[in-house]
Amino acid sequence: MNESGPAHPAAPESPVLDKAGILKQYFGYTLFRPGQEEVIDALLKGRDVLSIMPTGGGKSLCYQIPALLLPGLTLVVSPLISLMKDQVEALWSSGISAAFLNSALSRPAYADTMSRALRGEYTILYIAPERLFSDSFRQLSAALPISLVVVDEAHCVSQWGHDFRTSYLDIAGFIGGLAVRPVVAAFTATATPKVKEDILRLLKLAEPLAVSTGFNRPNLYFEVQKPRDKYLALLECLRARKDKSGIIYCATRNTVEDVHRRLADRDFPVTRYHAGLSDRERHENQDDFIYDRKPIMVATNAFGMGIDKSNVSYVIHYNMTKNIESYYQEAGRAGRDGEAADCILLYSPQDVRINQFLITRGGDDEIRDPAIIAHNEKLLKQMTFYATTSDCFRSRLLSYFGEAAPAFCGNCSNCTTEFEETVFTLEAQKILSCVYRLGERGIRYGKSMVAEILRGGKSEKLRGAGLDTLSTYGIMADTDPHRLRLMIDELVRQQYLKAEGEYPVLLLAEKSRSVLRGETAVTMMLPKSGAPESGGAAERTGRQGLLLKSGEPSRIDDALLARLKEVRTMLAKEASVPAYVIFSDATLRDMCARRPVTAAQFLEVSGIGEIKLKRYGELFMEAIRSFVR
Ligand code: ADP
Ligand code: MG
Repeated sequence: MNESGPAHPAAPESPVLDKAGILKQYFGYTLFRPGQEEVIDALLKGRDVLSIMPTGGGKSLCYQIPALLLPGLTLVVSPLISLMKDQVEALWSSGISAAFLNSALSRPAYADTMSRALRGEYTILYIAPERLFSDSFRQLSAALPISLVVVDEAHCVSQWGHDFRTSYLDIAGFIGGLAVRPVVAAFTATATPKVKEDILRLLKLAEPLAVSTGFNRPNLYFEVQKPRDKYLALLECLRARKDKSGIIYCATRNTVEDVHRRLADRDFPVTRYHAGLSDRERHENQDDFIYDRKPIMVATNAFGMGIDKSNVSYVIHYNMTKNIESYYQEAGRAGRDGEAADCILLYSPQDVRINQFLITRGGDDEIRDPAIIAHNEKLLKQMTFYATTSDCFRSRLLSYFGEAAPAFCGNCSNCTTEFEETVFTLEAQKILSCVYRLGERGIRYGKSMVAEILRGGKSEKLRGAGLDTLSTYGIMADTDPHRLRLMIDELVRQQYLKAEGEYPVLLLAEKSRSVLRGETAVTMMLPKSGAPESGGAAERTGRQGLLLKSGEPSRIDDALLARLKEVRTMLAKEASVPAYVIFSDATLRDMCARRPVTAAQFLEVSGIGEIKLKRYGELFMEAIRSFVR
């Protein structure tokens, strides 16, 4: 495509489409993901929205579909200048007319985009926040009907977030200055309560619908290794993931240089990124990665914000991050396409010392405030806790974000190696009879007090209420408190106990009788008792992160997949776009499984709409036909 945008796509000929029709026809999907419909409906009704969805959750569709249904222009404010081009290309390749305005455009291209925008040729216009108040754009926004303003990566407005941008503070002023106030939609993947509050206040959202789909990313596998030699562990990880694309995060530039050099010496297709490189080199390396010329990226945390590369299939942390939020953000760059992907942390106690040093002495110079240092130290402790826990990693992450999660996810290295199916009927009977005895006295308590009674606690509250005279007092004094807590939660989950009310108190459910009578055995996945707090990871290094692939049809043929990838690479080269802009890996896998050879069959493939059928259908179907022959 030339600088000012590709030729106009032929708009799919069709009667008036509704949101589901657009989802299928333009994007090729049949089902909405959680939260998408709610957001779309609210925007179409003219209500502001604050949407918190995890990376890869599908935020873009939430505004792209309304953009097609609303009159006038949809303006998308985004901090990710380097990615606007790809986002716009992806829209064109789905048949949606879009453009971007940022400093990467030459003067003539900028002017050309402006005049096309004025003629109403675009449905969606991406803009860098710094451009909102430029003279030319002011004229444009005065002349154009803007019906929707989207603030992508909305956490950038908050100083409590991790990517604060001063220019985001101007967005509300810009919107306020428009003749007619458009609907405003804010999207982010990370929002602690403080950040959320800032977004609402600083963007001046008007009674927005808040949609949060939670933080869980079921397709990500979490693993922590504590290897004696990190570099050897890394090699092992990479060997098990040949031909896949991934990111290796290191704490410092020096480590990036070192790891990069050693991998390059071994002919791994690897590139690097950190703040010490020139702009040009950073840009080139990022492109090498995005375009899969060098599918392995070694980088500091300077790399990655908004990298939409959907086929990143692993993120390895060579060093532990300084907090859980950064870890989840960085690890979350894996598996955006919904395919199974691995997040592996190579931990060593040395990482804690490096981070401690960065918090107190290194890093950004303005951070000298003792309160902030203390806060950051606390966050580091929580991260260290994560790295060394023998609990389910996913449940640790989610509970950090305040989300309820089962104690066992089955898709992290602790669940697969440190948990075992455990019969805990006797313990269950003790817990249930404790609740029963309390009921006899006509009183109810929550989980903590029940646990305390069972463990024989000595708090004033407990003794003051005479609870130490219960027959069940202290009968589980030997049980680890954390384990006890897991069991109580599990009894609630399995509905032997009910937890009712705002400050939930425990009640016996009908179902519990059979357990108390000894007629039913109760089991759950529990950490192996006596499982070491650390270690044992070395044996796990050979694991290949194959979980979740099991649900996939067995017909996926590696040779066919490779052939389809070749076709995709050729098309991507021709259009000079990254491969995933043509089709995601998820789409290619689905194509492999279905082997479509007619247009109707081709449209059945997830991620293929009318335009992609017209553009690419014949080539891929020909490849499939000749393969089948
Ligand atoms: P993010 O929330 O991180 O901005 P994106 O909007 O980039 O996520 O979407 C991530 C991926 O999910 C994209 O490849 C997109 O095409 C895909 N996707 C979005 N919505 C759906 C859907 N309803 N069904 C299937 N795939 C979807
Ligand atoms: Mg996004």
